[in-house]
Amino acid sequence: MSSSYRRKFLQQGLAGLAAGALSQLATHAETVNWIDAHVHVWTNDFRSYPLAEGYKPEGMKPRTFLPEDILRHAKPHGVNRVALIQMSSYRFDNSYMLDVIRKSPGVFRGVAIVDWNAAQPDQNMRELAKAGVRGFRIYPGKVAVENWLDGEGFAKMFKCGAKERLAICPLIGPNALPALERQCRKFPETPVVIDHMARLGADGPVREDDIRVLCSMAQHSHVKVKVSAFYALGEKKPPHLDLAPLIHRLYDAFGPQRLMWASDCPFQVVSETYGDSVSLIASRLKFLSGEDKEWILRRTAEETFFA
Ligand SMILES: [Zn+2]
Repeated sequence: MSSSYRRKFLQQGLAGLAAGALSQLATHAETVNWIDAHVHVWTNDFRSYPLAEGYKPEGMKPRTFLPEDILRHAKPHGVNRVALIQMSSYRFDNSYMLDVIRKSPGVFRGVAIVDWNAAQPDQNMRELAKAGVRGFRIYPGKVAVENWLDGEGFAKMFKCGAKERLAICPLIGPNALPALERQCRKFPETPVVIDHMARLGADGPVREDDIRVLCSMAQHSHVKVKVSAFYALGEKKPPHLDLAPLIHRLYDAFGPQRLMWASDCPFQVVSETYGDSVSLIASRLKFLSGEDKEWILRRTAEETFFA
């Protein structure tokens, strides 16, 4: 091969490769059809959608995060559907989220917040389910974490979740897991999705004891875990490989069919990118097979929120 021929061959070969890679990327984005299982949206239309008491417009950071904002971040990565999580600043008024779902029901589903201290939170759940809500966010709030789930309202919610196949989605730290474990024993059929790997590593290194408690939740066959909010856990910086051992342990305990990836946008994109999150699962964890990724990036969330 003459040197000029070789140069030409290389140039054409590279150009060909680049074109191939580009079209592959485009096809990839259209075909993988991944789901982001945890995103918050809000608007600055405070007249139509007033903030709950204690929240102020100037406290909203970013000022707005609209449905088109999340899709702009997500679509280039092949993420076409999103589970919206009711923002605490709207408290029990789920109307903005419901309006977003109503406009694009194929793209968005919701996880709402109902008042579990009210008389009939289960009635509320059934009504919201008709509007595209598939899960309900709960958290300990100011209640003692040892028995935060003891109230009658939570019993009604767990019963309704089991009957209607609606997920209960606890936003908790590892200290709230023992009470959740007791509740799952009482209501073994209730679908439960634990947010953000129970926030292990949110306040320092990931502790072995906490990993064991979280993994032991896998004994309840309807408990799933969101592998998400990487920006907030462990070293809190990309490429997030420090979280690989934790995710591997969850993978061994729950299996890919009970893990679902999520970004927790907009918070994921404040000081890093959307790709920093999704690509950890899509390409940086060597123990995941192609089929595993199908589950973690799409099928688990599809079964839970889009069925
Ligand atoms: Zn969140």
